[in-house]
Amino acid sequence: MTVFIDPGHGGKDPGAVHDGYKEKDQTLGVAKRLQVKLAEKNIHSILTRDKDEYVALLDRAGATKKIKDNAAFISIHLNASKNHTGTGFESFVLSKSSGDNKALQDTLHDAIARLNTSYGIKDRGKKEANFLVLRCVKNVPAVLLELFFIDADIEKIAGSNYYTEVATVIATAIADNYKFNK
Ligand SMILES: [Zn+2]
Repeated sequence: MTVFIDPGHGGKDPGAVHDGYKEKDQTLGVAKRLQVKLAEKNIHSILTRDKDEYVALLDRAGATKKIKDNAAFISIHLNASKNHTGTGFESFVLSKSSGDNKALQDTLHDAIARLNTSYGIKDRGKKEANFLVLRCVKNVPAVLLELFFIDADIEKIAGSNYYTEVATVIATAIADNYKFNK
């Protein structure tokens, strides 16, 4: 199978910014660790960007079009709120999603929520939305993760191995969901 790992934002688009932390850097850090963890399970993955560059949402999603075998699209983001009152983890699939999307979301969400709770990051729940990047990925299950709020939760993971741990949790969840036990 092939896992498309989509680190949110990049280049001219920093995403959410707080205290010198930029969402685009944090998501790339998680994405690169996830690629390593998937490779350890012999799961092939493709990054929609592997450096600090701007990639249009249509091009990120378009990368999945040529795939014929089992695949998944995991978009990695951090959240932020205007008045810094938002906190916690949430995951999204496209509105009115099929069973495949929901199954992948369930597996990923439950595993990440368990890890995040141990860091004091609360579970905001499994959600649906019409995000453009999810709308454009038509042929493979796609889940968008908002791992935590950069402006409210980042202190909770400071100095920890959270990014490596969450990469491990995501890779294991993908392997479980696709019964990939090589
Ligand atoms: Zn984002």
